[in-house]
Amino acid sequence: MDASADTISRSLLAWYDAQARVLPWRSPPGSPPPEPYQVWLSEVMLQQTTVAAVGPYFAKFLARWPTVLDLAAADDADVMAAWAGLGYYARARNLLACARAVAARGGTFPATEAELQELPGLGAYTAAAVAAIAFGERATVVDANVERVVARLFAIDAPLPAGRKAIRARAEEITPAERAGDFAQAMMDLGATVCTSRAPRCLLCPLAESCAGRRQGAERFPVKPAKVAKPQRRGQAYWIERSGAVWLVQRPGTGMLGGMRALPDDGWSARGDGRGTGPLAGGWTSGGVVRHSFTHFDLDLQLMLYSGGDLDRLAADSGEWWPLDRLSDAGLPTLFAKAARLALAQHEDLGE
Ligand code: SF4
Repeated sequence: MDASADTISRSLLAWYDAQARVLPWRSPPGSPPPEPYQVWLSEVMLQQTTVAAVGPYFAKFLARWPTVLDLAAADDADVMAAWAGLGYYARARNLLACARAVAARGGTFPATEAELQELPGLGAYTAAAVAAIAFGERATVVDANVERVVARLFAIDAPLPAGRKAIRARAEEITPAERAGDFAQAMMDLGATVCTSRAPRCLLCPLAESCAGRRQGAERFPVKPAKVAKPQRRGQAYWIERSGAVWLVQRPGTGMLGGMRALPDDGWSARGDGRGTGPLAGGWTSGGVVRHSFTHFDLDLQLMLYSGGDLDRLAADSGEWWPLDRLSDAGLPTLFAKAARLALAQHEDLGE
């Protein structure tokens, strides 16, 4: 490590010793690391999700499944329902696949970045984070916060995503051989609290002396690619109600929101735009539109309300009647929870 890289890592670790965020999945700076299970679980939950949103889910999962073996033995549907509301549901399916692979090797996580990457559903980022934080390996952890700090620190002006190569190389340069886990968490904290995406607080920054981006206008880094408008999709979801219960289905195990309980829909997620065929003929009225934004597209989901009487035609093995007064326990993903709220609001409008 050259002298300037050494200065950066020392300054950052000294700052972390004094300023580390206290988070439920962490050990204080310089103390023995937390269980690999906790590090892994928190890192999977934190992908594209805020610390504030993850906190209650992390506590709920640990209380219900205190070890990786407990999680491996859980029912898929219970885990999917417990994950509901956290978004990016493929993570929950990957979580189970990985827990089961760890259980198959006796419940112990492998200790190196390379071996961790061989576990199913455990990507390069998570492998590096677990290796560094739980096992102290000198692995380089680059999430969106770290990417921003490094791009600014070295004024890397190649636009993303091409600029990621240079960012990773610089991040590797400044990762110290000792305390790699604390260093990774310090970078994350600096990005989250000081080198924020808007209005970075350079006056409080422990790296200000070494920072090239600060002198060039920090906010222009990392350089973003030109924005492309998200495609707009359309679909329908169906609200079928009987005696205080609503008809819910389980989505297929693969594909969007796979394995989650949901309202029946017209297949918009598989085909792009749904084709408007409801599970029962006739008797439908529009209940309004739910707008929802996914990572790669925006969706207008039209809610259709059934007022026909042909309920015996619903195949018993295709879904279940779920009591409306326990709908919050169904684990509906956010899109369908919004649709359910829209349907229930119409009860209130009718004074029911
Ligand atoms: Fe970020 Fe400013 Fe610190 Fe540079 S000096 S790393 S731009 S907060």
